Amino acid sequence: MGKYVVWFKDLQKDSIAIAGGKGSNLGEMTQLSLPVPNGFAVTAQTYKEFIEQTGLKNQIEQLLLGLDEEDTTNLQKTSEQIQKIIIETPVPEDMAEEIVDNYELLGMKKRDASNLVQPEEVFVAVRSSATAEDLPSASFAGQQATFLNIKGKEHIVDAVRACWASLFTARAIYYRQKNKFEHSKVYLSAIVQRMVNSEKSGIMFTINPATNNADELVIEAIYGLGEMIVGGEVNPNTYLIDKKTKELKKIEVKKQDYGLFRNEKGENVKRDIAKSNQEKQNLNDKQIQELFRLGKKLEEHYGRPQDIEWAIENGEVFLVQTRPVTTFKPKVAGERLGITEEAGKILLKGDTASAGVYSGPVKVVNAISELNKVLKGDVLVTVMTTPDMVPAMQRAGAIVTDEGGLTCHAAIVAREMGTPCIVGTEHATQVLKDGEMVTVHASKGIVYEGKIEVKMPVKVVSSAQTKAEIITATKIKIIMDIPEMGQKAAETGADGVGLVRLEIMIAAGGIHPAEYIRNGKEKDYVNLLKDGIKKIATAFAHKPVWVRCSDMRTDEYRGLQGGNLEPKETDPMIGWHGIRRLLDEPKILKAEFQAVKELHDEGLKNVGVMIPFVIRTEEVQKAKDIMREVGLEPCRQVDFGIMVETPAACWIIEELCKEGVSFVSFGTNDLTQMTLGIDRNNERLNSRFDEMHPAVLGELAKVIKVCKKYNVITSICGQAGSRPEMADFLVHQGIDSISANADAVYDIRKVVAQTERKLLKDGGRKR
Ligand code: PEP
Ligand code: MG
Repeated sequence: MGKYVVWFKDLQKDSIAIAGGKGSNLGEMTQLSLPVPNGFAVTAQTYKEFIEQTGLKNQIEQLLLGLDEEDTTNLQKTSEQIQKIIIETPVPEDMAEEIVDNYELLGMKKRDASNLVQPEEVFVAVRSSATAEDLPSASFAGQQATFLNIKGKEHIVDAVRACWASLFTARAIYYRQKNKFEHSKVYLSAIVQRMVNSEKSGIMFTINPATNNADELVIEAIYGLGEMIVGGEVNPNTYLIDKKTKELKKIEVKKQDYGLFRNEKGENVKRDIAKSNQEKQNLNDKQIQELFRLGKKLEEHYGRPQDIEWAIENGEVFLVQTRPVTTFKPKVAGERLGITEEAGKILLKGDTASAGVYSGPVKVVNAISELNKVLKGDVLVTVMTTPDMVPAMQRAGAIVTDEGGLTCHAAIVAREMGTPCIVGTEHATQVLKDGEMVTVHASKGIVYEGKIEVKMPVKVVSSAQTKAEIITATKIKIIMDIPEMGQKAAETGADGVGLVRLEIMIAAGGIHPAEYIRNGKEKDYVNLLKDGIKKIATAFAHKPVWVRCSDMRTDEYRGLQGGNLEPKETDPMIGWHGIRRLLDEPKILKAEFQAVKELHDEGLKNVGVMIPFVIRTEEVQKAKDIMREVGLEPCRQVDFGIMVETPAACWIIEELCKEGVSFVSFGTNDLTQMTLGIDRNNERLNSRFDEMHPAVLGELAKVIKVCKKYNVITSICGQAGSRPEMADFLVHQGIDSISANADAVYDIRKVVAQTERKLLKDGGRKR
């Protein structure tokens, strides 16, 4: 240990006052004999001495005196002045010497011909690790600079001093003033660490971040430097390991054709991956086992799930960083840290359509033709998403719209994808600019400027809890539209799928259903649907999967091939869609039934069908006739249901039951719209759009009561099924099944179990 530096081996987790959070954490891992690239901390006290000895301390204090942090121009100017004087002040000689000497020690490995140790200059990263005198636990993570690929003793001291200067970026000054930290009591330790020249690298989560399953560990791996994963530029291979049995449960190999590698000069350059390796599993068994061992050790040591960054050099595994898992969507584009939420500048507010937090660069899409500019990890900003934007939405890290309500398609698809989404901001496309970095705090409906650090509670739910543990009389199902999500949806333990919207599969196919028919390509349409539905029906083998016939509003699918021929309507919401349109274009309906028939023939008898937007019994009769034409007997051979989403259907429910249906499913999105006369997509009316309105509840109660008389199964597949208060109400009425969004299945199951228990105690539910 020197006067100015302390090596990792002499640091541990309570060394924050010396080496800040980052430095002490690296020390802790080194002490555990974990493979951390070696390095040392230029201590916080060294920084203090530097500014005191050189007289900088007083100068800085003078410059900061009376600074109004909200005066952005002045804040920026002061920040630049302070950083300039720090960078221009020579580091006292003994200090500089000690830093250089220790840097040279990092390279003491190579022996020359006479077997003498020769210092070899190595590449290092110089990182900032700040600490507060009075409050060592305060987090300044990510506010200060990091310098990568530094090599040579002439550069090392400059890099350390540049880290010190970064204590006075405008962002850091702003944060301290807002949080009432005295500038003079915040110090900075510069961490000098040998850089791993990554052949492979990645991230490891000691819980499954996609499902919250604490019994699984997930490794994401790519060739080359990890920046490409964090930036979302390449898709990593994913390895899923059962923590108890150590069994490798799943490997998902993704093609990687190029990676980022360090060249001789220390520049990061893109290089092609050998053709033979591009589509091969990129970690061998030994590496997977080694990572697993290290991940378990870290989790056990810290007593909480960890989010770990790792790298492999010459076949050897290194740990570069570990931190507690704080959110289940820990990936954000670029650097993963930022100023805290409290200090963030609010750019926009809207409604939470899909919860979560994400930081990334904005891409404003004003026309369908601009969709290609949305890259993986971008924040998609648009007036209102339409289903033909789905592929771009899947690439987006978050979605922000001007218009739309909670039941608009952007909201529905985003929820299913687990992508944070804010709708109804009114001005997002005006306020946000292409390339601008923002943080979408969808859980709060706020868009912040820049990258913001948001503390999210960790909600660990074991798979046992999500599945068998809670048994309810009411079936808890899931709503899903994206076939690729089938497996993940099934893992929620849902008792089936209460609604599969075909529109999303159709949009992914790129062709309007009417266009297939116009071109005599019914067969292609049948195959498209079959492929999609099959994925879901297989994932939910033996559990009912109710597919809804297409329900395409004429304004939403103009981007599809043939979509330009759709009629222009004054109000497409109450226009030519649902069963009324399908009966006008019976070949579309027939093709959809044909897809179901073929799946049944292949043994997937769990697939049922429902027809949307019913207002008359004749519609049901005619649809059944068309179903018979493809060789399926409705109700007897296949579950045949109707959506109850118009007041008309509620009024004539008795006739509909007499006509004969296997089940009804409440489409409360439309039913509320129709009953209250409130456009579900109008952001100005979001607060008034309430499925718990007594008029809607009255309709639901009546329909359930009548259906019971006729032994018709009742269900809900509108967004309201994910509302606990609605679930409670419906269980009281005696509903048979409730369908919720993937992220709500568990919570709704809990609510239903509670209500059922209570009803049992109070004398039973309605039968
Ligand atoms: C509904 O109206 O509640 C429903 C589920 O259908 P969609 O949201 O597709 O109109
Ligand atoms: Mg509807």
